[in-house]
Amino acid sequence: MAGLLQKELGVIENSYYEASVVRPPPSPPLQGRLRTQVCVVGGGYAGLSCALELAALGFDVALLEAHRIGWGASGRNGGQAIVGFGSEGEGAIERQCPEELARAAWNASVEGMRLLERRIDTFAIACDHVRGYMTLAPRQRKVDGLRRWVRHMREHYGYPLEWVERAQLSRYVCSDRFVAGAFDPHSGHLHPLKYCLGLGDAARRQGVKVFENSPAYRVERDMAPVVKTAEGEIHCEQVVLAGNVYLGEFGDHLAPEIAARIMPVGTYMIATEPMEAGRANALIPGRVAASDNNLIVDYFRLSADNRLLFGAGETFNARPPQNLVQRIRARMVQTFPQTADLNIDYAWGGFVDVTMNRAPDLGRIGSCLYYAQGFSGHGLLFAGMAGKLIAEAMSGDASRFDVFTRIRHHQFPGGAWFRTPALVLGMWYYRLRDLL
Ligand SMILES: Cc1cc2nc3c(=O)[nH]c(=O)nc-3n(C[C@H](O)[C@H](O)[C@H](O)COP(=O)(O)OP(=O)(O)OC[C@H]3O[C@@H](n4cnc5c(N)ncnc54)[C@H](O)[C@@H]3O)c2cc1C
Repeated sequence: MAGLLQKELGVIENSYYEASVVRPPPSPPLQGRLRTQVCVVGGGYAGLSCALELAALGFDVALLEAHRIGWGASGRNGGQAIVGFGSEGEGAIERQCPEELARAAWNASVEGMRLLERRIDTFAIACDHVRGYMTLAPRQRKVDGLRRWVRHMREHYGYPLEWVERAQLSRYVCSDRFVAGAFDPHSGHLHPLKYCLGLGDAARRQGVKVFENSPAYRVERDMAPVVKTAEGEIHCEQVVLAGNVYLGEFGDHLAPEIAARIMPVGTYMIATEPMEAGRANALIPGRVAASDNNLIVDYFRLSADNRLLFGAGETFNARPPQNLVQRIRARMVQTFPQTADLNIDYAWGGFVDVTMNRAPDLGRIGSCLYYAQGFSGHGLLFAGMAGKLIAEAMSGDASRFDVFTRIRHHQFPGGAWFRTPALVLGMWYYRLRDLL
């Protein structure tokens, strides 16, 4: 049973990441009745991280994944591991929370980076992790905002962002398209699917019962929860929903209360053919990951085998975007005219789960249903941390989890998701604000 979002993904599914990993044989689907303490729905960073933490705390955990581990955004993303919630998300948290809570949220994201690096070490996950990240202003009008943000992060959080003038930009990124930048020495990039499969492998080794090709189509919440799949059911004490934008894809939404708090925004990536190392290094001498500071961002980095990976957000309308590869390629060549002769070997896409205020949406429904969603393009790092915070809350210390449950989230208008004219208009509004 494929939902609307999955059909749209089918339009463009030739992922460099899938082509550059060897997946283990699939875990068997859930069959029959299973009793466990916690059932996690979703095999991306959030679900796997939560399952890993819970298993380490001694919980008995089962994880259901509708497809394969890393099938969703965690196996498709730009690979940019970025500390923080972006200037929009940060601003929303600061406006809504007292200073000490905003600081606690920031600290959790910094810890998310350490958690990621620790897991790479502890579980020996070979995922091409590189430190260094640039945020780039694509035009003069965007410089003041970037400068203010750098000052704020340094003064308020003591975070060592470094201001980079135009004349120095070519030390990091060799493109005339940008007029200034902010260098972050701690954020960085990695091969997202290798990292996700590494987490999956670690979870299995820690005793998590992983069931792939097992979409959950209903959570019964009468007494103790029961999670149902086509061929089985899990009776448990607690459920964690970590299914991102896909929770409504296999029947009714597993938690309709939270469905309209996120909007799936399509974003797409291309990978060039491999270059000589010297040529690749001439494009991005610092081998940093980079993105511009538009609301709908362009983002890029080099892969370990010297391809340029370039991604771009797309406005949404009722039909899949036309000429997608050509459009993203045009943005890449606009950024790096030196790449005009390179073939595009791969193109793929996915959905970013965006909240109205761009801050992450974590919470509880009743006493036995936890959820984490709405990472708004910053989930590589923070989805893992969100999983850890849920595990902490379940084991009795909800203090850090509750920092995030205090953030208010509004619902996007319209029952038919982003396909409503109001939302299409909203996306065009962001695009216009970036352009004008
Ligand atoms: C193209 C792209 C580029 C991105 N770039 C970046 C980036 O550079 N940096 C960054 O920080 N973030 C980026 N993101 C966002 C980031 O990837 C996500 O925020 C993060 O991966 C979310 O993790 P998750 O575990 O919440 O969701 P996912 O990784 O999407 O995992 C959810 C999983 O749940 C499963 N599932 C859903 N419903 C059910 C069900 N009913 N039963 C069983 N299983 C179910 C799905 O199959 C899926 O595998 C990008 C996203 C995309 C798509």
